[in-house]
Amino acid sequence: MKSVVKNSEAFAPKSRSALPAAKSAFQRTLLAWYRIHARPLPWRQDPSLYQTVVSEFMLQQTQVKTVLPYLARWLVEFPNFAALAAATEARVLKLWEGLGYYSRARNLHKLAQAIADLPVPPRTTAEWRELPGVGPYTAAAITSISFGAPAACVDGNVVRILSRLTADATLHRDSASASKAFAPFATSLLPAQNPGDHNQAMMELGATVCFRQNPLCTICPVLQFCTAGQRGDPESYPNLAAKRMEHVAVTRVWCERKGSLLLHLSAKTARRFANMHELPTAEQVGLAPATVGAGKLLAKKRRGITRYQITESILAVPAPRGQLTTGLVWVPFAELDVVILSGPHRRWVEEILVGRGTSLARLTH
Ligand code: SF4
Repeated sequence: MKSVVKNSEAFAPKSRSALPAAKSAFQRTLLAWYRIHARPLPWRQDPSLYQTVVSEFMLQQTQVKTVLPYLARWLVEFPNFAALAAATEARVLKLWEGLGYYSRARNLHKLAQAIADLPVPPRTTAEWRELPGVGPYTAAAITSISFGAPAACVDGNVVRILSRLTADATLHRDSASASKAFAPFATSLLPAQNPGDHNQAMMELGATVCFRQNPLCTICPVLQFCTAGQRGDPESYPNLAAKRMEHVAVTRVWCERKGSLLLHLSAKTARRFANMHELPTAEQVGLAPATVGAGKLLAKKRRGITRYQITESILAVPAPRGQLTTGLVWVPFAELDVVILSGPHRRWVEEILVGRGTSLARLTH
């Protein structure tokens, strides 16, 4: 029976194919492919430390095509660390609205303030790891790309490539423990020259060729070095333990009164969604279960967040009587574009309004 690897020390390098011996050829081949095929992304075409940092924060858990319009707007309003440091948190969150994982925006804001206070930005991965929101991957990406630091980026994409190159069937508990386990191998493949380009080439290969499903092995530049690609079973790697999903049901309510919508505003100190609005849950409104149960179902939404599979039902219910409980606010429909609504909630509100023959744009202009 296979055992789950718990840390990098437990990693068994004996399964590592002939790739280490062909390291230089692998590096050259990968880099040559990258120089020709890299997508012309803004942080590559006009590289700067600031753009690298902002793009790396935005790209955490988010696809490139989603990030591009956000980055463009961001750079117009906050063109450098000083401009971002001087902004209010409310404005920072407004520009981030819809990208999700809002702690990234708050941390990026704090990071800009920390950097703006320094005579020169830090250069080492250890120094960057001290800054808000910077984990091992982000520190490696920023310092290798901006300062040529010999730090390997290891995320799910890179693990996928490395495990396929070596056909390493070791079972890993999850993506994070697999990343730790593959870190020494990723570091050993890093060239002394242009480690930032090598890291970007690995990311690009994972994003555009070595897909999770149906990887494009026949056109892959490193097929000659890839054991799983040559054997025809790349989708067997990496070997990650199946995620145990938990199902959660949430009931949210849609209450209107005199042209306003009832929303819940999270406290400034809330761990998640601080200072952000959402459609309130039935518990937050404090309506009797019978009242909520009698409400009209307007929408049912399913989404996955980490290991949770969440089903959210939105029911139209009568406005609560008396004084609102803490956190509840009436927001005029005309002001819904001014307040910060979390991304899915803005989409749901829009969808419900469109279903009634109107839209946010019509109500707010
Ligand atoms: Fe991935 Fe296939 Fe390339 Fe191997 S040959 S790195 S499995 S795309």
